[in-house]
Amino acid sequence: MSPEEFRRHGKQVVDWIADYLACVESYPVMSQVKPGEIRRALPSGPPERGEPFEAVLSDLGRVLMPGVTHWQHPSFFGYFPSNASGPAILGDLLSSGLGVQGMSWVTSPACTELETLVVDWLAELLALPARFRTDAAGGGVIQDSASSASLVALLAALHRAGDGRVADEGVTRRYTLYVSSQTHSSLEKAARIAGLGSVGVRAVRVDPRTLAMDPGHLRTLLAEDAAAGAVPTMVCATVGTTSTTAVDPVAAIGEVCREHGVWLHVDAAYAGVAALCPELRWLNDGVAEYADSYVTNPHKWLLTNFDCTVLWTADRAPLLGALSILPEYLKNTATSVGSVIDYRDWQVPLGRRFRALKLWTVLRWYGAEGLRAHIRKGVELAQELASWIAAEPGFEVREPHPLGLVCFRPVWQELDAADADRATMRLMELLNTSGSMYLTHTRVDGRVELRMAIGGVATERRHVERAWEQIRWEHAALSRTLPG
Ligand code: PLP
Repeated sequence: MSPEEFRRHGKQVVDWIADYLACVESYPVMSQVKPGEIRRALPSGPPERGEPFEAVLSDLGRVLMPGVTHWQHPSFFGYFPSNASGPAILGDLLSSGLGVQGMSWVTSPACTELETLVVDWLAELLALPARFRTDAAGGGVIQDSASSASLVALLAALHRAGDGRVADEGVTRRYTLYVSSQTHSSLEKAARIAGLGSVGVRAVRVDPRTLAMDPGHLRTLLAEDAAAGAVPTMVCATVGTTSTTAVDPVAAIGEVCREHGVWLHVDAAYAGVAALCPELRWLNDGVAEYADSYVTNPHKWLLTNFDCTVLWTADRAPLLGALSILPEYLKNTATSVGSVIDYRDWQVPLGRRFRALKLWTVLRWYGAEGLRAHIRKGVELAQELASWIAAEPGFEVREPHPLGLVCFRPVWQELDAADADRATMRLMELLNTSGSMYLTHTRVDGRVELRMAIGGVATERRHVERAWEQIRWEHAALSRTLPG
């Protein structure tokens, strides 16, 4: 494709995306296709001869679009938001256009230096501690996902706990990771990848009401494990759990970690960006004093399309100790003088995209003010929704709900717990297959609850209102079909 052909098709693509975003609301939120339908509608083998770009765009519209679930639909309330905004899409396009692979400073200095700048900017906007800044002992780095970031944090923690021996000797001792039943599954995956195995993952009890980790039980487990010869390595506290946005008591957990010299990792994948708003900074109480590492995902709620996770550490030395390897083919003067950052040593893969560009375009387009307004809109709509549900006979809403997620369930008076859960799942299925919204579910104490996460770029009050009306309507219709 020549630059002139690129210009022509590029304009078509930008127009296509603009049209899509302008009318995303007209699509059914959740794709209604059956497994295998999309694959069968496409040729089974690759083309021998090149095809016009228009043919690709035509198949995108005709074949692929029915198989797309519209995460940018204003009535997408499933999972957490995965915001794609205009400036982020353009920033990502620029990154693709430059085609830079920024594994080392020397392979594109701007890629590294802009990344250092934007992660420091974001740390400042979130009021994260000064020791997370790159000009102190720590620093931030953009990763592909919170899962990768937590794995990297665990590798750094292992390096520290093993006095630097793990890189050479492997996991020869019983290193342990502490999570709760509410911690994201990526931590267990990280433990498996790092060689701790599931036996190395210790489950700390949670408060049955708030679902927050119990620091007293953590203290007991750490003492027992240390006495039994294990090496307590890392505790993962979560600020805003995936299931219900529970917030672990980071300061109390941090105090226990300090007593035992254990690495404290804070997973704030969804909720962390809310600290842009001063009234929500309490979320990070204890982070400044105790956290060794902290992760949040601008690719969830901060208007930056997937993928863009930021991991900060208070001390980059164990991270670099765990992950730096300098083969001959990567040696260069800047690296050997030690005057630059080579972010390849801060992550699992070698290669890296120029992701800082899209975070930069987002921060500059919206400014702190615009970003705060976006977070506040999601929180306010969620609070309103929760008040409607709480006022509705026959529904229960989970408290607290400080952010954009509301968990709730119908009570189904006449049904036992198992049948009531089946009815709630049926209600969700009816709502999702209607195409007019997308909800997900969780289980708390064995019971099903519906999750409605608000925070989409295009979501307005009318979408939340309409969704709630439809939930009430479907619930009433389903109730009439149930026994009793
Ligand atoms: N941690 C928490 C608290 C999450 O909610 C999620 C995803 O929702 C993750 C980690 C995993 O995020 P990622 O998809 O970036 O790996």
